[in-house]
Amino acid sequence: MDFDLFVIGGGSAGVRCARIAAGHGARVGIAEERFWGGTCVNIGCVPKKFMVMAAEYGWNADDSVTFGWEIAKGGHHWGKLLAAKDKEIERLNGIYLRLLNQAGAKIFEARAKFIDAHTLDIGGERVTAERIVIATGGHPTRLDIPGAELGIVSDDAFYLKEMPKRVAIIGGGYIAVEFAGIFAGLGAQTHLIYRQPLPLRGFDEDLRLALAEQMKGNGVVLHPDVTPESIAEEDGVKKVALSDLSVLDVDLVFFATGRAPNISGLGLEAAGVKTGKAGAVIVDDNLATNVPHIYAIGDVTDRLNLTPVATAEGHAVADSLFGGNPRKVSLANVPTAVFSIPPIATVGLPEGEAPDGSRIFVTKFKPMRHQITGRNRVSLMKLVVDGPSDKVLGVHMLGEDAPEIVQGLAVAVIAGATKADFDRTIGIHPTAAEEFVTLRTQTRVVGEALAAE
Ligand SMILES: Cc1cc2nc3c(=O)[nH]c(=O)nc-3n(C[C@H](O)[C@H](O)[C@H](O)COP(=O)(O)OP(=O)(O)OC[C@H]3O[C@@H](n4cnc5c(N)ncnc54)[C@H](O)[C@@H]3O)c2cc1C
Repeated sequence: MDFDLFVIGGGSAGVRCARIAAGHGARVGIAEERFWGGTCVNIGCVPKKFMVMAAEYGWNADDSVTFGWEIAKGGHHWGKLLAAKDKEIERLNGIYLRLLNQAGAKIFEARAKFIDAHTLDIGGERVTAERIVIATGGHPTRLDIPGAELGIVSDDAFYLKEMPKRVAIIGGGYIAVEFAGIFAGLGAQTHLIYRQPLPLRGFDEDLRLALAEQMKGNGVVLHPDVTPESIAEEDGVKKVALSDLSVLDVDLVFFATGRAPNISGLGLEAAGVKTGKAGAVIVDDNLATNVPHIYAIGDVTDRLNLTPVATAEGHAVADSLFGGNPRKVSLANVPTAVFSIPPIATVGLPEGEAPDGSRIFVTKFKPMRHQITGRNRVSLMKLVVDGPSDKVLGVHMLGEDAPEIVQGLAVAVIAGATKADFDRTIGIHPTAAEEFVTLRTQTRVVGEALAAE
């Protein structure tokens, strides 16, 4: 065999797996067909967060006047933002490649495809490997409606030639609300169209409600309980017909309507690898597929599609196979953030999934900064506490710095901290975070409010 391990895909999952396995002394090859670092670095987390920052600077520039700055806010230069973002991404691509080289992995810049369960075709070259890891990620999908091809997906949003003046975003998931914040913050008239009553299905209800209010406050026009039926173009204007019979005239339609695993043309059938719903590669607890020497990690398994999960899985497979440290990755209590404006972060159970008898603590307040700016921003913090054990089951926040705050609190949740542990922790003052350790008034008990109604 040419390699002990061959990794298909140079994204978050694949790069980590190849680098760590090579560091353990394995003979490793890795193929990437498009860009090192994959979705997160090139068309996901990283450029998205730069764009959120750009939008926030706009709000901050206005707010700074209330703190005494004399600032005349001019227009925003979309081209400058994209150039700065591209420069940083180029630097990150280089780092990923350098890390792989330094670890001693053999690099292939080409598309890989299974010929059989141990043989791959990589841009015309045949290689064999003892073990193979599928880390090909996913891609955005559109709704199947007339005129869907007139819309863009998130991949395209990072390369738009100019900032649209009017945008319709279709979808209520995290990518949809993040881009609504970006476009509205950069000055576009922004519509968010989603079929649920509130955006962010699966998140805690209080967060969803507060986010909808805050988005409205930021000027985003919300269209809940609505689906798009068709898109047409007339004189350069995109006309989006909605199920409530209204028609929106916009310059850009953006489908943020889900993602699907990248398995097309991969030759999985030649290797005998089984896939499940929407083409996700099926794996067991050890991330092995039904073919025992073939593994799958990251978004191609379509379980919890987040970069830190993808890298943790890549690391665990490399350690298990070549580092003498077999281990699994737990998907329980994975903290996550939504970089909306303001952002959301969460770890553990939402109230809706907490057992009856769980105690709920909620506080909602105007952040200190906005007492001066007067801007209608709120922060919402919430603890879900198990009734019998007093363990904190869920920590949820909407508000400035939420992702930074909740990352720290996730350690406490993973460690099994109780509400009493939170209560005996002394706060850092003046911060928003201190509210999490000074929440004393119980808001309600799960199950009881319903019984009383
Ligand atoms: C807009 C957006 C924003 C996001 N924001 C966040 C965030 O804030 N936080 C977060 O944690 N996650 C975020 N994510 C999710 C995150 O990007 C993914 O979970 C992560 O990139 C998954 O890593 P991966 O390695 O599994 O797949 P990918 O990063 O997609 O990498 C797969 C790689 O495989 C390559 N490839 C595919 N097929 C082949 C083949 N046959 N041969 C060779 N190469 C191939 C692809 O070119 C790609 O580079 C975001 C995603 C999007 C789209």
